[in-house]
Order: sequence, then structure tokens, then C-alpha cells
Amino acid sequence: MDDTIAAISTSLGVGAISIIRVSGKEAISIANKILDIDLRKYKANTINYCHVLNNNKVIDEVMVSIFLSPKTYTMEDIVEINSHGGISVTNKILELLLENGARMAEPGEFTKRAFMNGRIDLLEAESVMDLINAKTDSARKMAINGVDGKLSNKINKLRDLGLDLISNIEVNIDYPEYEDIEVMTIDKVRDFSKKLNEQIDVLLKDSESGKLIREGINTVILGRPNVGKSSLLNRLLDEDKAIVTDIPGTTRDIVEGSIRLNGILVNFLDTAGIRETDNTVEKIGVDKSLALIDDADLILLVLNNNEKITEEDKMLIEKTNNKKRIIVINKIDLEKKIDIDFEDSVLVSAEKNDIDNLLNKINELFNIDEINNGDMTYLSNIRTIDLLKKAKKASNELVKSLDNDIPIDMLEIDIRNILDLLGEITGESYDEELVDRIFKNFCLGK
Ligand code: GDP
Repeated sequence: MDDTIAAISTSLGVGAISIIRVSGKEAISIANKILDIDLRKYKANTINYCHVLNNNKVIDEVMVSIFLSPKTYTMEDIVEINSHGGISVTNKILELLLENGARMAEPGEFTKRAFMNGRIDLLEAESVMDLINAKTDSARKMAINGVDGKLSNKINKLRDLGLDLISNIEVNIDYPEYEDIEVMTIDKVRDFSKKLNEQIDVLLKDSESGKLIREGINTVILGRPNVGKSSLLNRLLDEDKAIVTDIPGTTRDIVEGSIRLNGILVNFLDTAGIRETDNTVEKIGVDKSLALIDDADLILLVLNNNEKITEEDKMLIEKTNNKKRIIVINKIDLEKKIDIDFEDSVLVSAEKNDIDNLLNKINELFNIDEINNGDMTYLSNIRTIDLLKKAKKASNELVKSLDNDIPIDMLEIDIRNILDLLGEITGESYDEELVDRIFKNFCLGK
């Protein structure tokens, strides 16, 4: 972390401007070597007009921002060169910086430095990337709450409760002669354990919304050939992405697309029509479709209003019985011949673009309105949700220990265990390999 890093922070291509960022102890002196002004003579947080030179030839006319440690994104000195946007100009400036002593930054290295230097915690760092990747309004709102530290506050409050308690326990261990302190402390542990359990449950419940906001609802459209799956997908996506034909078995591969439903992404996968088949290509498609059922958040099982239920329909109903599922009866513009009534089905006609019932049902099934009315401060990625689940387990251990009248110094071990897990969420304690893995997924220059 002692070296000075540089990278292009804007996306590479032709544009109005590009920003090349430099961070580290030598940021100012390295930039000085390629500019026709002396940045040391300018104040922090200013932007200044000058030129980039190479062998006294002007490479570009630029605006250069100066940020001085510690009040910067990385807490190190930062220079940002705003150049004319163009692949050749931008690359040339980066090249000159590298020739003059900067090292090419790794993806996410600026944000990693912000974390390592203690300006932001791990949750905030992850949220920076979530903000950049946000595809919906809800995802953006959730990410900015993370960047702002609101999410970290929730976790830290919980941790603080535990830290207070530990100091209490330590007084107890140091002064064992006061028995009433012990009774009082055990009561406090009980209180803490109850609060902790309640709050972890809330965080876990919220994280389900977080995951939906972040990843969307992965929805698989199932049904035997010709019930209208591709037509339905086209209506949902409002475009002709899926191939629609009346020869059974045309959708052999998987077609996908997403819509925003009240701010939540719904990702649809249209699968190969499922039926017994000898055709190898089609069979691969059918096997893929069945495999998708397990990973889906939602199954739309499409049946044809204009036909009697078949054995294949029954097989699909059976296979998806334990999943979150909507039975979609399509072709309601045609005569009703379907011979089983389903309590929770929705009636649609893909042909007549009559699909609102289905959209309303998805909305209702996933409480989308409720999610949108929440505070949008949720854990949402696998790493943090997994740690929270471990904290929940550890919290259950504490309850067990309390029930079994385990001595107070042993309770301290349980509590420390919970606090460590909560600390890993915010990166209070961290494993270097994991941190490297997190930042590798960032964009270059961020
Ligand atoms: P898939 O094999 O399940 O993907 O079915 P397709 O979407 O390819 O549709 C099969 C046939 O049914 C096509 O001829 C569609 O035009 C027709 N179809 C689809 N939906 C409807 C509907 O709601 N009403 C009517 N009348 N025909 C439909």
C-alpha cells in the first residue's frame, strides 16, 4: 500500500471527458512530472486548468483536481486528471503516469485503500459496487443506504450491546465476591440474548427483501409445448424476444429477459416445452428446464385453458408442488376445456395481451409494495447473509447455555463468538484473502 496507483476511472471509449485517477504518497509529485503547472502551489479541493506534456509536446488540455490526505476517498493524496474523452488521449496520460512511477491499480484498489485506511467499512465498500451495478430504483436506494453507513449502524448498534455486556461480565469475573453482581449480570445476559435474537430475526427477514432487490425474482416459465410460454414471455417483456411458433418443441434453448415490476427486477426464463422426447437437442432442453426448477424463486406453470389436463401437466404440477408457484391458465380467449379447477390460478390470454392478473399476483406473492415501503436498509449479498445466519446459530447457542446454567465466563465465549461474526459483516475483523476476493469484483479505477 506504500506505492502510488493510477487507473482510468471512467469507462473506456469516446466521450466528452475521461478521468484518470492517481492515489498515494507520490500522487502529486508523479502528476507534476507530466503537467505544466506545479500542483504543490495549489490548494486542496481545487480544480485547475493546465496541460499534460510529453517531451515538451502538449498531449492534452486538462483540468486537474487535487485532494490532500487524509480528507480524500482513499485517505491518501489523490490527483484526478479530467482529460478530453478519447481512447488514445486517455491511454496516453495513463501511460505517462505509469512511466513516471505510478503502478497500474488493480480493480477496486482505490476503494480497497479506503477500507484498509479505515475510511469506510466492508459493508460500505460493497455498497459502492452495488450502487454502480444497481439496475432498479429500489436497488439504488438500498445501495446508497449502505454507502451512507446506515446499514453498518444497524449492525454496530447490535455489536455495541454485546460489547457493553462483555465489560459487565469482566467486572463480574474480576470481583467474584459480590454475588449480587453475578445475578444482575446473568439477567443482563438474558436481556441481551432476547434482544439479540429478535434483532437478528428482523435483519434476516429484511435480508430476504434485500436479496430480492439486489438479484430480482428469478422466475422460470414451465409448461408443455404449445401452451403459450413464449407468447407469454413476449407479452411480459413487451417485445418479440422468444420464438413463437405452433410447431411443438421450438423453444429448445432457454430464452430470458427481465422487467421492472414496481422497482423490483423480475427475471424470466422461458424453458423448452416439457414432454417426453426422443429428439436429442430437445431432450437437452427439457433436462435443463427441470434442473432450473430447483434454483428458481418463482415458477410460472402455464396450462392451456383450451385443452384437458394431460399426464405431462400433472407431472409438472407434482414436480413444482413445493415451490413458490403460480398456475397460469393461458388462452382464456378460447373455449374452456381444462377439466381441473385450481384454487390459486390466474387467468390470462397472451394472445390478447391480457396479463395484468399475473403481474398483480407476482406483486402480491412477493409483497413488493411492502418491500418498497420499508427502510431499504437491508443486508443483501451472500457473504453478509451467511454471516448473519451463523450469528443466529451462535445466538441460539447462547440461549442453550443460559438454559443450562453455564458459568458466566463461559457465556462470555458465546457472546464473543456472536460479536466476531457481526464484526466480520462490517469487516471489523477480516480475512485478507476474502477482502482481496471482494475487491477483485470491482471495476477498474473505482
Ligand atoms: P410454447 O410452446 O408454450 O412456447 O407456446 P407458444 O407461445 O409458441 O404458442 C403456441 C401457439 O399458441 C401459438 O400459435 C400462439 O399464437 C398460440 N397462443 C399463445 N397464447 C395464446 C392465447 O392466449 N390465446 C390463443 N388463442 N392462442 C395463443
